[in-house]
Amino acid sequence: MLSIQNLNAWYGSSHILQGINLEVRRGEVVSLLGRNGAGKTTTIKTVMGLLRKANGSVRFKDRDLLGLPAHKRFGLGLAYVPEERRIVPGLSVLENIRLGIVASDKRAREKEVVEQIAETFPRLKERLHQTAVTMSGGEQQMLAIARALASDPDMILLDEPSEGIMPLLVQEMFELFSRLRKAGKTILLVEQNVEAALRISDRAYILDQGEVVHADSASALLRDPVIQERYCAV
Ligand code: ATP
Repeated sequence: MLSIQNLNAWYGSSHILQGINLEVRRGEVVSLLGRNGAGKTTTIKTVMGLLRKANGSVRFKDRDLLGLPAHKRFGLGLAYVPEERRIVPGLSVLENIRLGIVASDKRAREKEVVEQIAETFPRLKERLHQTAVTMSGGEQQMLAIARALASDPDMILLDEPSEGIMPLLVQEMFELFSRLRKAGKTILLVEQNVEAALRISDRAYILDQGEVVHADSASALLRDPVIQERYCAV
């Protein structure tokens, strides 16, 4: 579904991504792991069109993305939950979810989508009319994920969703990812929480200094503490 070949990207004159190759097939959950500064966020931002100085090939559902502006990429069925959540703090939970639906022009299905989301996120269901800013960081992150799912995307890209969240909610979040995987969603997940990410992934890529240094099945990586220690220890 997503195919990245020989991707290079720059911040100004700093050459950050140095020839990344990565595939995510339909229905797969793939983790992108590596230390701080390895290039994980840069990879996702380049896919989403938020960093334009790039070359190589990024194809999504067989369309070339690099030539398209960011807003056109969202329209193709990609949903993105950035590290900095970007929910609208002054709106209620329900209004934030509606923004996701409107964005994908599915207003007619609003009732159904809201019901589905309330079922998937019991914690949000209880808080539909609460102002988003009054929720905990973890609940706001859940809301950001719910809003992304409301657009019924073909693929969702998540950048460190568990960062800075209390352990109970982190556990809930990974249970959610596990359910999304079973439901056949296609996910590219950037995580520092390596073990939890591998447990809900099919495969993983490990980045170091802007290069893929290792790619394997999640189960093989789970059995490989040396690789985990070498490239993923913070
Ligand atoms: P983290 O977990 O810290 O976000 P990461 O693997 O996502 O790590 P990136 O954020 O992709 O890493 O950063 C890759 C490199 O790009 C780092 O060397 C970083 O200093 C550099 N970088 C990131 N953002 C910018 C920016 N806006 N301008 C210049 N350099 C940047």
